[in-house]
Amino acid sequence: MALQDLLDQNKTWAEQRLVEDPEFFRRHVAGQKPRILLIGCSDSRVPAEQILACGPGELFVHRNVANVVSYNDVNISAVIQYAIENLHIEDIVVCGHTQCGGVAAACAQTLGDGYVADWLLITTWAKRWVDERLAAEGRSPDRDEYLSLVVEENVRLQVKHLSHLALVRKSWRNHPGVPRLHGWVYDIASGRIKVIVEPTSIKNEVDEVAKG
Ligand SMILES: [Zn+2]
Repeated sequence: MALQDLLDQNKTWAEQRLVEDPEFFRRHVAGQKPRILLIGCSDSRVPAEQILACGPGELFVHRNVANVVSYNDVNISAVIQYAIENLHIEDIVVCGHTQCGGVAAACAQTLGDGYVADWLLITTWAKRWVDERLAAEGRSPDRDEYLSLVVEENVRLQVKHLSHLALVRKSWRNHPGVPRLHGWVYDIASGRIKVIVEPTSIKNEVDEVAKG
């Protein structure tokens, strides 16, 4: 697609918004009050606003390869801090997706020796735990089921990382249980979202922080 096509589409989009709602852009100039922080994958098939049927101003979004929450990533830490302290967002969602190329590469151990390999090292822990569980159960699922299991485990792992962040724990001390942490997986084949982690599963960690 030529870039001029995208610019033309933008012009048409902006004109249509004004026809439907003359206040549309003026409202956004006034500020934002997004409902959630969504941490998703950079994959082009999982555009946050579209899959949740949301418009501009409704979601605060951070996306990276395989929706990773890394302790030493200044980028995601700044996003989370701004979401909690400035936007007062109360729900953070890690949203993975089926057929994730990043998770598949971590599973196949075909990461090579570049930045992608370094980045996805974290995800290989999810693969390791799934391998251990399957070995204990004596199961060997087909490739698609295996990838889905690791995608889900990767979401659990990243939610766990969120729960360990000093930023999140500081908020829990001041406002017990807030932000609430969620884990979802978007199914590319059906467009539906499966809930993997509910905020209640973090309750013990919240209580532990509250006790100091
Ligand atoms: Zn992905």
